[in-house]
Amino acid sequence: MPSHVLARKWRPQSFAEVIGQPAIVQALTHALGSGRLHHAYLFSGTRGIGKTSLARLLAKCLSCEKGPTATPCGQCNPCLAIVLGNYLDLLEIDAASRTKVEDTRELLESVQYPPMMGRYKIIIIDEVHMLSGHSFNALLKTLEEPPKHVIFLLATTEPEKLPNTVLSRCLHFTLKLLSNEALSQHFNHILQQENIRFDADALSLVAKAARGSVRDGLSILERCIAFCENDITAAKVSGLLGIADSHSVQALFDALLANDAVSVLTLIRQLAEKSVDFSDVLDAFMGLLHQSALQYALHESNGPLAAERIQLYYQIALIGRRDLALAPDQQMGFEMIFIRLLAFQPWHEDDNIPPPVKKKRLPPALNLL
Ligand SMILES: [Zn+2]
Repeated sequence: MPSHVLARKWRPQSFAEVIGQPAIVQALTHALGSGRLHHAYLFSGTRGIGKTSLARLLAKCLSCEKGPTATPCGQCNPCLAIVLGNYLDLLEIDAASRTKVEDTRELLESVQYPPMMGRYKIIIIDEVHMLSGHSFNALLKTLEEPPKHVIFLLATTEPEKLPNTVLSRCLHFTLKLLSNEALSQHFNHILQQENIRFDADALSLVAKAARGSVRDGLSILERCIAFCENDITAAKVSGLLGIADSHSVQALFDALLANDAVSVLTLIRQLAEKSVDFSDVLDAFMGLLHQSALQYALHESNGPLAAERIQLYYQIALIGRRDLALAPDQQMGFEMIFIRLLAFQPWHEDDNIPPPVKKKRLPPALNLL
């Protein structure tokens, strides 16, 4: 499957398909429904989060022959042309690649003419913060006295770089990072439609690796589809992406609670063979400690960890996380954290710590120890 096919294919074509931005969708739906439209919208947020997709969708809502409407028909000429990227009244500029004053001037001069087909002339400027100072002035002049038929849809990853004179003339929406749950649900839906088998843990790994970006997530998902041959499993994805699956982290946690140093070190070696990022493993481990602490605090815990031990482990892990970058290599630093965790085993009457597992033969991989 060629790269970026999924991102193009699954670009939202209606507000119902926009994931993870309910407040923005509600505000835009309301504005379109009540006819209270602004002449400039600004969408900000991290890369790959759906800013330009949202801008194109809004352009469709504004241009649909049945509109302006929050539910564009998808069938009329403007709707179809916008999806194909050849609608004459929608101008799309990437300021990251077009920063010359003449280009912006040329664009802004064309803005004065009425739209050729539709009711609005819509100008999308992506990465608008990268326009040169002169271009900003040209843009600002148009924003100060915008012709009635013009709507600007601006997008940026760095709104703080925009002058206040521009910011104050825009209706500003900040897109949220997508939660792992929202991304997993989205990928789940896509894979079902694409008839590709997968397990839920594999999707959690992809969602986590996407770090809140739907575009990055879809690009990772494409690599997984190519690599896993229509059966996406957590084990394969973990090997492909070099990230620890939740079972490995849980196994490490259990081995620590069992005071089983050999298993702890063997599991760490297995993770190293997958070239995992140990700071991610440490984050996941601390997540398990956090869950235990919450359960304990809410008096729901029947687990083997007493509150003091959770706190001690968390503190050791936290300091270890800070110092991990200073260790000669990540694996060594990570092993030292777990050896320290094994060494500090405060006894408490609520604790159910088994005695240390001793006299066990080290597997060959650990003979160096
Ligand atoms: Zn339409």
